[in-house]
Amino acid sequence: MSFINPHLISLNENYLFAEIARRAEAFSQENPGVRLLRLGIGDVTLPLAPAVVDALSRAAVEMGSADTFRGYAPYQGYPFLIDAILKTEYAPLGVTLHSDDIFVSDGAKSDTANIQELLSPDAKVAVCDPVYPVYVDSNLMAGRTIVHLPCRAETGFAPALPEIPVKAVYLCSPNNPTGVALTRAQLAEWVAWARAENAVIFYDAAYRTYVESPDAPRSIYEIDGAKEVALEFGSFSKSYGFTGLRCGWAVVPAENRWGLQKPWLRRVATKFNGVAYPVQRAAEAALLPEGHAQSLQNVRYYKENARLLLAALRDAGLTVFGGTDAPYLWVKCPDGLDSWTWFDRLLREKQIVTTPGEGFGACGAGYVRFSSLGGREDVAEAAARIGVQ
Ligand code: PLP
Repeated sequence: MSFINPHLISLNENYLFAEIARRAEAFSQENPGVRLLRLGIGDVTLPLAPAVVDALSRAAVEMGSADTFRGYAPYQGYPFLIDAILKTEYAPLGVTLHSDDIFVSDGAKSDTANIQELLSPDAKVAVCDPVYPVYVDSNLMAGRTIVHLPCRAETGFAPALPEIPVKAVYLCSPNNPTGVALTRAQLAEWVAWARAENAVIFYDAAYRTYVESPDAPRSIYEIDGAKEVALEFGSFSKSYGFTGLRCGWAVVPAENRWGLQKPWLRRVATKFNGVAYPVQRAAEAALLPEGHAQSLQNVRYYKENARLLLAALRDAGLTVFGGTDAPYLWVKCPDGLDSWTWFDRLLREKQIVTTPGEGFGACGAGYVRFSSLGGREDVAEAAARIGVQ
C-alpha cells in the first residue's frame, strides 16, 4: 500500500508551459535585448472595465463598516449575482433557468476539475483530443479510465461520438485549443446521443462571448432536451478579465435526469465557502449594462487581434482553424514539420512564442496554437513578421 494516492503519482509531469518558458529564456539569453512576441499566453492582458473596478472598490469599503460588513457568502452565490447571470448570460439566448440551477464558483477550472466527483469511481469518461488538460488530469487523479475522441481537420475538429459506452463526456465550445465552436447541429447530435446513452455532458463554455457564428450556440441549453443531460460551466475570466479576480458558475438544472443538483449542492457546501463578496459585486457589475458594454469592448479587441493574425497566417499560405469564435488560432505546421520544430523556428526566425499543439494531446501533433489575448502592438508586429518569408 503506498502512502500517496497512486493515481496522483502516476500522472505525467505537465512540462508544456515549463518547456516553452525554458526555450524562450534560452533564446533571450543567447540574444540579449531581442524582444519576444508572446502569442502563447492563455491569459488576458487588458485591465478590468472601469465599472467593475468601481463595484469592487465600493464592496471593499462596505466590508470595512459594521452595518455593511458581510461574512460567509451563500453556498450557491449571492442572489444579486445569480440574477445577473440569468438575465445577461441566459435570457437573451431564450434560455430560462431557475436561480437554484446556478452555482457561483471561483472559476471554470475548479468546476471542470471538481465535477467528476459526481461520477462513480468506475465510470468511463470521454474527452476530446486535443483537450484542455484539466478534464483529463482530474479524472486520472480519481483513477478513472479515459476514452479519447480524436478531433481532426477532416471534421473541422468536431469530436466523433464515442464508439464504446461512457458515462460522461467533456465538450468545450468554443474550444481551447482549436478555437473552433460546435455548430447547432453538432451539439444537437451530442444531446441526442447523451439522452439515448444515458450519459452526462459536461459543457465548458468559458469562451462563449467570443462566438460570432450565428450557427454556433453560446449555451448548450439552446438545444432542446439539454437540461436533462447536460451541466454547463461559465467563466468571468476571458470574457470580463477576471483571471486574477476568480469567478465563474456551474449550471446544474433541476430538470437533470439523475437529480445531480442536490448532490452537487452537498458537495459544494462541504468543500467550498463561496466567492469573496467584493468579487461577486465586481462580477455583477460586469453583467450590468455599463460594465458589460465596457468589458465586451475588450473581447472585441482580442477578436480584432485574432482577425489580424488569421489574415496574416492565411496570406502566408498556412492552414488555419479557429480565430473567429475564440481567441485561439490552430495552425497546421508548414512543410510537414512537427509542433516543436515549428515552434523553434517561429521563436528563432521571427521571435514569436506560440504553444506546440501536441501539449494538448496526441492529435495536437503537427499543429501550433496562436493566442490573440496579447497586446495589439505585439500582435501587429507578429502579423507583419509572419508575412515575411
Ligand atoms: N476552461 C477552459 C477551456 C479554459 O481554457 C480555461 C482557461 O484557460 C478555463 C476553463 C479556466 O477558466 P477559469 O479562469 O474560470 O478557471
